[in-house]
Amino acid sequence: MYISTRGNFPVVTAAEAIKLGMVPAGGLFVPQNIPTFAEEELKSLIGKTYQDVAAQVLTLYLEDYSQAEIAACLKKAYRENFAHQEITPLYRLTDSTYLLELWHGPTAAFKDVALQLMPLLLSLALRKLQVAEEMVILVATSGDTGKAALEGFKDVPGLKIVCFYPDQGVSAIQERQMVTTEGQNTYVVGVRGNFDDCQNEVKALFADEAFRSFLAEKGFALSSANSINWGRLLPQIVYYVYAYLNLVQRGRIVYGEKINFVVPTGNFGNILAAWYARRMGLPIHKLICASNENKVLTDFFRTGIYKKNRPFKQTNSPSMDILISSNLERFLFEMTGRNDKTIAAWMSELQEKGHFAVGQEVQKAMQEILWAGFATEEETLAALKETYTSKGYTLDPHTAVGMKVYQQYIAETGDETVTVLDATASPFKFTASVLQALTGSQLSSAGDEFALLRELSRQSGLPIHPALQDLEQKPILHQRVCNKEEIKKEVKDILNIVFKIADDLGMLLLDRKDLK
Ligand SMILES: *Cc1c(COP(=O)(O)O)cnc(C)c1O
Repeated sequence: MYISTRGNFPVVTAAEAIKLGMVPAGGLFVPQNIPTFAEEELKSLIGKTYQDVAAQVLTLYLEDYSQAEIAACLKKAYRENFAHQEITPLYRLTDSTYLLELWHGPTAAFKDVALQLMPLLLSLALRKLQVAEEMVILVATSGDTGKAALEGFKDVPGLKIVCFYPDQGVSAIQERQMVTTEGQNTYVVGVRGNFDDCQNEVKALFADEAFRSFLAEKGFALSSANSINWGRLLPQIVYYVYAYLNLVQRGRIVYGEKINFVVPTGNFGNILAAWYARRMGLPIHKLICASNENKVLTDFFRTGIYKKNRPFKQTNSPSMDILISSNLERFLFEMTGRNDKTIAAWMSELQEKGHFAVGQEVQKAMQEILWAGFATEEETLAALKETYTSKGYTLDPHTAVGMKVYQQYIAETGDETVTVLDATASPFKFTASVLQALTGSQLSSAGDEFALLRELSRQSGLPIHPALQDLEQKPILHQRVCNKEEIKKEVKDILNIVFKIADDLGMLLLDRKDLK
């Protein structure tokens, strides 16, 4: 069962938590009891497949899903859509440093691991809860999340997905990835405006009660694929467990030995999943939280004060350009001994004043588990280049942030614990920055991005990621473009619930049903 971090909602089942996404009045769902591994349980998973480990972890959290349902979801989520049989393989960089490659999924980013599974869990939840409406997932994307969500929701029964992106505001490759998406239930719309326009308009639709009840009458309900949904966090716990077992199986560590994880962090989802794994009994020493120049988390863990009002920086690790890390709320809930009143107070302070302070006791509890640091733009590119030169491995800029922060951690602590660094994106997703780091020359992404893919392949000696390989040849299946004021109309149009007749008096909206 699941409860709210702010104590403002009744206890719900996993299916309800996944269907709702977040607590309606604010707050996030967390497990009422965090399950733990029995000693023999973890040991018995050594040598098992990713899907087997996933089944074990998911079963502990999804009591209202049957074993058969979980197995069916896993079979569908993690099969040929990942380019590596191990789903999240470990790469040995040195005897004490490993890279956990989380980017073998269909869109070359780590978000695939969660987004390939979550829509299936949601679809089942709707069936279990006998939701009559068809769910319409609305996504505003700055590029990456949109495609990962489209691939995850593609052809999942009972769901439609509509994805809005800034026309002219994403890279040519990102746009091509989205507009070539297949599936009967996927819709992609370019918006004449920037990402904020898209996000604000989509948020306004979620808050538009009149529109929601209009949709409900027609048999539709709105939902989001947000990273605060428990259904997105849960699949991420699996690869921490799997990575640990993998190291034991290879004889790199002995069973029971503690390891560190370094996590390039934005919304605090990925690193929080590692914390849940630790809490379940996985032997983890430190979690190393790596930020880019938007270092709100580094400052927070070092001072105990969270301050969101600061200049927003656009960096070469854009998926970590975040000033409000939503999932931190779940971590704070645990660090305060599950004090929902304190959490509610801090979150309203954050909203009203832009900051809150946690006090020494909580700060100390956090520091026992977590070490935080950040990398500048130059340091990120230098770490990328250095890893390539000394180890022959090409990182993406997000993972390079993690590498730099890990180096700082070693310099400061001298800790020699075996460490796993999450590789959160394929270098081919961020070709221009990676080539800039490797060659030292500034490349404009306004040039031919597909030529850059080939150039990076030549420079790094790696094949182009399969998700990006034949993109240039794929047929364009989505051509909708609208003004930002027209997003609502576009949703109605896509759902085929309204059409308009222009007459002398102007626009008259008629409902199809009324005409019949
Ligand atoms: C989303 C993302 C991150 C940040 O993950 P969080 O769970 O938001 O902390 C890091 N790297 C890449 C490539 C991402 O897409």
